[in-house]
Amino acid sequence: MNALLSNAARRVIRELPDELISQIAAGEVVERPASVVRELVDNALDAGATQITVRLQAGGVRLIAVEDDGIGIPRDELHLALKRHATSKIGNLRELEEVTTFGFRGEALAAINAISDCVVSSRAASAGAACALDGRTGELRPVARGVGTTVEVKELFFSTPARRKFLKTDATELAHCLQAVRRPALARPDVAFAVWHDGKLVEQWRRQDKSADVGMLAGDVHTERMAEVLGDAFVTESVTLDFSNQNGVAGSRAPDQHPIRVRGRVGVPDAARARADQQYCYVNGRFVRDKVLSHAVRSAFEDVLHGQRQPVYVMFIDIDPKRVDVNVHPTKIEVRFRDSREVHQAVRHAVENALAAPRSTMGDAGLVTAEFAMAGGGTAPVDLPAMPDSSRWTQTSFRPPAAIGHRVSDLAALWGPPGATEHTQAPRQDREDTGEESGEEWPLGRALAQLQGIYVLAENSHGLVIVDMHAAHERILYERLKSQMDAAAAGQDPGLSSQPLLIPVSFPATPEEVATAEAVQETLHSLGLVVTPLSARTLVVRAVPAALAQSDAVELARSVLAELAQHDASTVVQRARDDLLSTMACHAAVRANRQLTLGEMNALLRQMEATDRADQCNHGRPTWRQVSVRELDALFMRGR
Ligand code: ADP
Ligand code: MG
Repeated sequence: MNALLSNAARRVIRELPDELISQIAAGEVVERPASVVRELVDNALDAGATQITVRLQAGGVRLIAVEDDGIGIPRDELHLALKRHATSKIGNLRELEEVTTFGFRGEALAAINAISDCVVSSRAASAGAACALDGRTGELRPVARGVGTTVEVKELFFSTPARRKFLKTDATELAHCLQAVRRPALARPDVAFAVWHDGKLVEQWRRQDKSADVGMLAGDVHTERMAEVLGDAFVTESVTLDFSNQNGVAGSRAPDQHPIRVRGRVGVPDAARARADQQYCYVNGRFVRDKVLSHAVRSAFEDVLHGQRQPVYVMFIDIDPKRVDVNVHPTKIEVRFRDSREVHQAVRHAVENALAAPRSTMGDAGLVTAEFAMAGGGTAPVDLPAMPDSSRWTQTSFRPPAAIGHRVSDLAALWGPPGATEHTQAPRQDREDTGEESGEEWPLGRALAQLQGIYVLAENSHGLVIVDMHAAHERILYERLKSQMDAAAAGQDPGLSSQPLLIPVSFPATPEEVATAEAVQETLHSLGLVVTPLSARTLVVRAVPAALAQSDAVELARSVLAELAQHDASTVVQRARDDLLSTMACHAAVRANRQLTLGEMNALLRQMEATDRADQCNHGRPTWRQVSVRELDALFMRGR
């Protein structure tokens, strides 16, 4: 029998105390600091704010304060603001059905107050003075401030330690908080936003005044904000979305079509990313996550986007509020459409039209047109004469085996120091020096050429060997990193040995990257990386793992920080060690189109032979294939 059931003594049914009801309800609304940020920013926008300042401490766990210059809350309503199911935004069912404010459930402040130390200070437009209400004590005291509201939330989840335990590192929580500001910021270029973390300004987006530039289209202030929030590349690599399902032939409209407008920007297929981290969808200005919408975009990309690549977009859908239900989820991040097919169709057409538009219209951001003009003014690309070092030409041309003159040790520059593989390499190295070319000795044979900048072709006694050079190199690096890590752990060393860069490289970083770098210094050290903040938006790489000395330091640092931001730093080295090393290996491995000499190719083959599990790359794909002479004969119908 179920032990729990049999042990359960019967208890009387009682109504839960009010505080507990609030705490339970809070669980639905507030999952982490970012949820609080979102609710408070929503409230500020509902109050008509034009400037919103978010202050955070310790990723928002210690403090979240959101200040606005909106209409404020009258003194005698302050205590109501913190009550459950108390709202100024709707009063009856009809208003609920047509709601256009972000809030309407009257739950957020009550929920937040139930699980934190919360103080609301406000001055209504009509009031002569401001008042602060302490949510714990109910005490009301006069304060000095202009018109608007500040909500301060301290020690989130202090009363619900179980929840608090689920929080990640401060850097991760900060990243989520920033995302919670980015979403409304993208939709509201008419509002200024600033985010401070631990006393430092980490994001600031000025107000894009529509009237400042006469003749500017409404879409342009949006575009400017998108560039500020998501980076210039998002704008230069995207096209304008502007579609209405009402623009039928000569303005005629199908009688049963309800008006839907889709605006924004969508990235060209080349701009697609490995992760779905730049997909912003808004329904009537509200950020939503919706399968119908993402599927519609996806299907518009069907023919032009392969594999798991994720399109990027910022998309605003305007629809009659009566045709969408926003009251399906406590956090209102999901919506339900009255007719999801019509929305799917509109979005799909909007994206298809935008992608199908001729390339020259993509220059609405100015930059693409300029680049395009430089590349030949929109005519077909000019045929360049084959340069002596043009990769395809020389890489595929055959070079006689006599060209194998390099000592393997000279090749360390490309493949890194032999390290753990030294003992197996020594005798073969001798052989190479004596010029004795007995390919049979080497399972992977003797390099012949490089094909398309991707494959190494080699000859062994069975026939042809084809090696995917990136996959193979990745595997070698990965195994090397793992064995160095193991050796370090056995010897109580801090981790991978590190090599200082002669010239440290700095790079522009996101606030998340800077915060992560600060938070995970020790972990980075154990990975042989030294990455330190230079300013609020700049990181500098000072050392890289010795085994990856040849890799792109910035690329390596970025990929490791992205990975570390996903994990709780205290456990990452044990739990996600191999994932991390694999990421590092992938980013450090030789890229396609890197031209190799025969000596370098041979060195790669020798290292593969000396590496455990070299037959597969870290993602499980093969690193090399044998094509036997019999198979080749069959291709040419020899010996029949
Ligand atoms: P909701 O937003 O669903 O109404 P909340 O609990 O978030 O519920 O807020 C309760 C009420 O407090 C709001 O309806 C609004 O009247 C008032 N309020 C909250 N935040 C602000 C703010 N920043 N400025 C003005 N009024 C606010
Ligand atoms: Mg609200």
